[in-house]
Amino acid sequence: MLFSIEPKHSLRDIFNRKEEVSAFQKSLQSERLIVLDGLRRIGKTSLLKAVLEEFDGYHVFIDCRAYFRNNLIDVEAFDRALIKEIEKTLKLGKLKKILKSISGLSFGGFEISIEGKGQKTNLAEALKSIDETLKGKRFVLAFDEAQNLRFYRKGGKDLLNLFAYIYDNLKNFVIVLTGSEIGLLHDFLGIDDPDAPLFGRYLSEIRLQRFSKDKSLEFLRKGFEELAIDVSEKSLERVVDELDGIVGYLSIYGYIYYKEDPVNALEKTKELAKKLVEKELSALINRSTNYGYVLKAVSLHINRFNQIRTYIENNFGTISDPTLSKILNTLVKQSFLEQKYVDGVKRYLFPDPVMEYVCKE
Ligand code: ADP
Repeated sequence: MLFSIEPKHSLRDIFNRKEEVSAFQKSLQSERLIVLDGLRRIGKTSLLKAVLEEFDGYHVFIDCRAYFRNNLIDVEAFDRALIKEIEKTLKLGKLKKILKSISGLSFGGFEISIEGKGQKTNLAEALKSIDETLKGKRFVLAFDEAQNLRFYRKGGKDLLNLFAYIYDNLKNFVIVLTGSEIGLLHDFLGIDDPDAPLFGRYLSEIRLQRFSKDKSLEFLRKGFEELAIDVSEKSLERVVDELDGIVGYLSIYGYIYYKEDPVNALEKTKELAKKLVEKELSALINRSTNYGYVLKAVSLHINRFNQIRTYIENNFGTISDPTLSKILNTLVKQSFLEQKYVDGVKRYLFPDPVMEYVCKE
């Protein structure tokens, strides 16, 4: 069903992503390092899962948000999950004998260390043995919301080293990373940073954009048609005007309309969306209230650097240019704001209308 609130798992349920699906499928066959990025709730996980579902090869999927303890990735839990997923894939792919051939590793045991230190079998070596037996089939290691990997030990450097090793040596492996915090993900990967492990590697990037107004309306019409519910064009137009072409919000709306409350579906969608957004912003605002002040200013269309500074100084207290610049930079890197030139002037805007409405309150 189109109006589900979990990520889609099948290409049959993916609406309006033909080009992206085919670009991604092509990259999976020819590239080594793929980034699938775009705003929160734009459909990255869905696209990834649906394409992998039909992929003629092997894959492992890791949700990088699932291993957080006290604001850091629990390395042991993460490594265990990664290895368990690899084992599962090998079992399913009838490649069990490879596992047996890797000394120190047996089913149910996790005698592999990513660092490759000490007596343990090195994960890189284990992957090499797998690579040698793949016979042309590709093995995808997919990490969802991968900007979070910077909270792995040593700022994620061990993982970046592993990725660089895989890129350089294991021809049948493909690394796929998705990210909502686009700037942070690119900073983490450090493709342009001479001191970073992945410096200079080729990164194939697929950016998911919001649906156009027409496509958003078509999505809603199609979803309601599937459920045999008749909704007026006027109501649909209003929904798209308020939620824009962010498919995650449109899906929540359809779901609430169908399951709960057709009359107040839009209001309830906004309430739920607001809770999601508040949760995402809270970590940032806990770090510094300045983030909240800047977002408030931009929500009031005070969106040029100097105007924002004046607004904060008039309402909350002094803020230096370097501090404001850092705050804006972080908000852009985390995709809470975007920078655009309007009439030749640099302005900060919300890419997500719900975020704007939450910050205005
Ligand atoms: P992201 O990973 O970008 O945060 P998700 O894949 O989790 O986004 O999608 C958010 C919501 O939107 C989910 O409920 C999912 O079912 C729905 N969705 C995403 N992309 C599509 C699509 N192309 N067609 C139909 N529904 C989609």
